Amino acid sequence: MRIETLAVHAGRKSDPATGAVAAPIHLSTTFERGADGDYPHGYVYSRSSNPNRVALEIAIAAVEGGGEAAAFSSGLAASLAIFQALSPGDRVVVAADTYHGLTKLVRELVVGWGIHADFIDMTDLEQLRNALKRTAKLVWIETPSNPLLKITDIRKVAELARAAGATCVCDNTWSPIIQRPLDLGVDLVVHSTTKYFGGHSDITGGAVVTRESNELFEKIKNIQGTGGAIPSPFDCWLVHRGIQTLPWRMRAHCANASRLAEFLQEHEKVGAVHYPGLTNDTGHHVAAAQMTAFGGMMSFEVKGGRDAALKVAARTKLFVRATSLGGVESLIEHRASVKGEDPRTPPGLLRLSVGLEHAEDLIEDLDQALTA
Ligand code: PLP
Repeated sequence: MRIETLAVHAGRKSDPATGAVAAPIHLSTTFERGADGDYPHGYVYSRSSNPNRVALEIAIAAVEGGGEAAAFSSGLAASLAIFQALSPGDRVVVAADTYHGLTKLVRELVVGWGIHADFIDMTDLEQLRNALKRTAKLVWIETPSNPLLKITDIRKVAELARAAGATCVCDNTWSPIIQRPLDLGVDLVVHSTTKYFGGHSDITGGAVVTRESNELFEKIKNIQGTGGAIPSPFDCWLVHRGIQTLPWRMRAHCANASRLAEFLQEHEKVGAVHYPGLTNDTGHHVAAAQMTAFGGMMSFEVKGGRDAALKVAARTKLFVRATSLGGVESLIEHRASVKGEDPRTPPGLLRLSVGLEHAEDLIEDLDQALTA
């Protein structure tokens, strides 16, 4: 089946009790046992398993090209479960420009459990080769990176990790459907389903997807059920509904973003545009080999630095000034004021999550905000 068909049908079935075509939301926390003491429907208690979560996990695994998935209450809860599956003394190698919340999670929580973490530039394979000279359990990548959209060569990183006996994890939050890390050799994919999967800025969730069930994934499943960082049945239902339109939404996000990147590149008030779809972007070549489209996220640097950038963000009328990404509405964010002082976040940089409005309306909005 093609991805559009999978997205509509994976995990979906009409309700056998009523014939309802849209799945009911199973709020029940507990499930009735048979007279023989068995659980005839396979469900016992909602923390360990719930029909909406099972359906969602089937759909996430299907559209990500994986064997199984585990859904969590947020993207960071999903990420944390992967680190919780490690042991004291283990070493992890993490991309230095991964989502800043993940960096904080590793530095403030994970290293406190006796796990060693090295942060490196994953776009520089020499740095990875050096880092893997010492035993590592895990290599963590995120591509395109945030907020400079640097591209990591997934296939090459996965190969190096495999040769070193390390599990390779890719945060694919920015690129569902258009980038399939499991096909490129990665072992686990993590998603913040808060973003494109949900797609409407109204749920917080996360997921871990594995190519195949194995000991590590069983540990993660155990952490999900025993640790209890699970999404509610309603949140599962919302994400599952979002998945049904995900391939089509991604197509429109990518098409709009390409138009905006080309427009911004020519604008006299713009110093640099970071978007891997631009043929002159440093990551374009690798991105073209591992993505089928270049995503709905981009950033650009306003000439005049921080104050000029803040003024542009203040003048937009359609773009909403807010963090996060992947919703139907376009967002604009002055990233340095969220992340604080960081050499990887230029003070004049604005990050865009390009939504599903008409591209011409978005271009007109940016143009008036830049030239006013
Ligand atoms: N990964 C990426 C790439 C993100 O952008 C985010 C959130 O912005 C997360 C993970 C964390 O997801 P959540 O906010 O659902 O915990």
